Formats: sequence, C-alpha cells, structure tokens
Amino acid sequence: SPVLDVAAIRADFPILSRQVHGRPLVYLDNAATSQTPRQVIEAFDAYYSGYNANIHRGLHTLADEATAAFEGTRETVRGFLNAAEHREIIFTRGTTEAINLVVNSWGRANLGPGDEVLISRLEHHSNIVPWQLLAAELGFTIKVIPVDERGVLDLDAYRALLGERTRLVAVNHVSNAFGTVNPVKEMAALAHAHGALILVDGAQATPHQEVDVRDIDADFYAFSGHKVYGPTGVGVLYGKAALLEAMPPWQGGGEMIRTVSFEAGTTFAEIPHKFEAGTPAIAEVIALGEALRWVAGVGLSAIGAWEERLLQHATAAVSRIDGLRILGTAPGKAGVLSFVVDGAHSQDIGLLIDQLGVAIRTGHHCAQPLLAQFGVDATCRASFAAYNTLEEIDTFAEALTRVIGMVR
Ligand code: PMP
Repeated sequence: SPVLDVAAIRADFPILSRQVHGRPLVYLDNAATSQTPRQVIEAFDAYYSGYNANIHRGLHTLADEATAAFEGTRETVRGFLNAAEHREIIFTRGTTEAINLVVNSWGRANLGPGDEVLISRLEHHSNIVPWQLLAAELGFTIKVIPVDERGVLDLDAYRALLGERTRLVAVNHVSNAFGTVNPVKEMAALAHAHGALILVDGAQATPHQEVDVRDIDADFYAFSGHKVYGPTGVGVLYGKAALLEAMPPWQGGGEMIRTVSFEAGTTFAEIPHKFEAGTPAIAEVIALGEALRWVAGVGLSAIGAWEERLLQHATAAVSRIDGLRILGTAPGKAGVLSFVVDGAHSQDIGLLIDQLGVAIRTGHHCAQPLLAQFGVDATCRASFAAYNTLEEIDTFAEALTRVIGMVR
C-alpha cells in the first residue's frame, strides 16, 4: 500500500505545532476545514509583497503577472478535475456559491411547474436550501432519494424516482456527515438515460480521492478550497462548456460583459468570465493553485489510503466505548467518524474534549434531514486528513473515554 511520510507532511503545517489548553493540538475537524501548508501561506505573501494588482484589465507588469498566476490556476484546476477545457472552470467563493450559481442560472432558465429535481437525503444544506428557495418561486417539485440504515443511498428507489419530468439530480460525492461515498458515475449514467443533468457536490471528495469529471460524466461539479488544504473564500464550479454557454449570467457587473450600453443593451463575455462578475479573490485563487500542487505532490491515492487506515484505527478504538453508536457505516466510506454516546450530549463531549486539546465537531453538520432519519439532532464527528497520525487517534480515543466518564 502507498506509504505517506506523515512526519514530512506535518512539517509543512505550522499550525500543527501549536498547543491548545496546554496540550498539543489534535486537529480532527478536517471535514469542516483543513489546515494550510506553508506553501499556500507563502503564496499570499508572494502575491501581496510582489504583484498585487487587479487582473485582466491592466496593461502594466503587475497586472500581467497577477493575471497570469490567476489564469494559470484555472489550468491547474482543470488538470486537477481532468476537465476538457479551462473555460469550464469557474471560480466562486466556495461550494455553496457554486451550487447557488447553478440553481439561479441553470435552474431559473430551465425549471417550472411539473419539473422535478431529485436531491439525496445525504445532502449538506447548501445542496438543499438553494433548490427549495427557487422551488418556492418557480413551482417545481423536489423529490428525495432515500438512504438506508447504513447511510447508503437506495439506488433502486433512485431508479424508481427518475422519470420523464426529472430535470436534474443533486447529490454529493462524499457525505460530510457520514463519509458515505456515493456511486456518482452510475448515478450520472442513470440521470442521463432519463435526459436529466447531474450536479455533484464534491466538497468532501476532492481532499480524499482523485476526481475525474469526464469519467463521472458530471454536468456540474463543485468544491471548496478550504477543505482541500487551500484558503477560505474560494471554490470552483466545473460545468460542461455547452451547458455553461447556454446558461444566462447570474451576477452582473464588471469582468462579465463584452459591451455595456444604455441604448443597445449589454452583451456578455464568453465563459468562464460570464460567470465571474467583479474582482475575484485573486490571492485566494492563486493560493488554491498552490494547495492543489501540494496535494498532487503528496498524491491523492496515498492520502486516501492513509485516511482509511486512520479511520479503521479510530473505529476500532471507539468501538470499545460502552454505549457509543457510530452513525454511517457505509462500506468503503471516507475518513469521517460520526457517533453518539448514550447518556452524554454531543455538545458536552465536544467542549470537554477541547479542554484536552482535541478538536472535533459536534452538531448537525448542516445535514438536518439526514440526522432526523436517525433520530438525532447532533453527533460528534472526527474527520481525518493527511497529517493526522495513529498516535493522535489514540490520544483522541483516550480523551473521549475520559470525557464520557466525566459527563455520565
Ligand atoms: N457540501 C458539503 C458536502 C460540505 O461538506 C460543505 C462544507 N461543510 C459544503 C457543501 C459547503 O461548503 P462551503 O461552506 O465551503 O461553501
């Protein structure tokens, strides 16, 4: 199996040497946001110290350098997703904005009464609420793809839900709440067989596995920089060029126009610029490019294999705790361990374990419809990244045992 040099990886992350409440930080909240290697931090310094300028419009050296770095990142992202063309890569603020772009541009132009959008019960609120907002306005119907007791999507039910009024399927590649990896390639083929499009929320997949949007045959694919060792404030929407070209602009402003006239009306720029109104997060985009280079240097298959090892170790360790129930037991799931404990509130566990230097997440993980099915409104969630160690998992399991003993 591929070996990861975890010590060398950790040396790239300055934050990992800090202490929390007098103890070494054990950071297990990677599904919420990953930590940032120095290469990414240094990209900000290089930009602001060396070539800070607005892009595209300039005719001076700094503007040219910033534009080259920004557009170079578009090509890096294209390669990262194996998209066919760099104009299929649109920079957004994150996954949430990428989904809102599809909803408000494609959705507004293509959905009406009688139309159906299928959304899985595993979705993050960001792939539910934008659709609900538009459905309230346009009167189309949202149908829910069910999950079983393991947190696995029911593909037979999915097949049965697909029909001639299905226009789009919205599904995540990997669930942030349970770690379930969904068969998005198979789901895309089924959607296409019914003339429907598929939007894949890749926020939790891109940090853990290689993604090939052409192999999946995704129509839209979204991810966030801050979950893949990059900065906050930047994300990506991939869309097939023909779809993006046919879609109306969403936000209006500078950068996205060709000509503006009060008399003759306004004409729009070609993709991707048609969907990038205003000055983007230039430094963040450039730093995202560094993050993707860092990830490629380590290798996503090695990262994924290491996280699986961490997950197995953690699962075995917490399984010894009396009254602990793991939610989400899908085969082959990603490095996410969600659990509840009899007689101990998740929030209490989260607060107390922080006192021991361990960062986990507690709450509904922006997946209330999923948690409701399991009869809980919150879980504790430990989620893993390339820099986590087996020793950290042991520290976490010991701290968890201690904390549960305190609150019970
Ligand atoms: N989808 C999934 C599966 C996520 O895990 C998240 C972040 N928790 C999002 C969407 C939203 O991402 P962002 O907040 O970066 O826009």
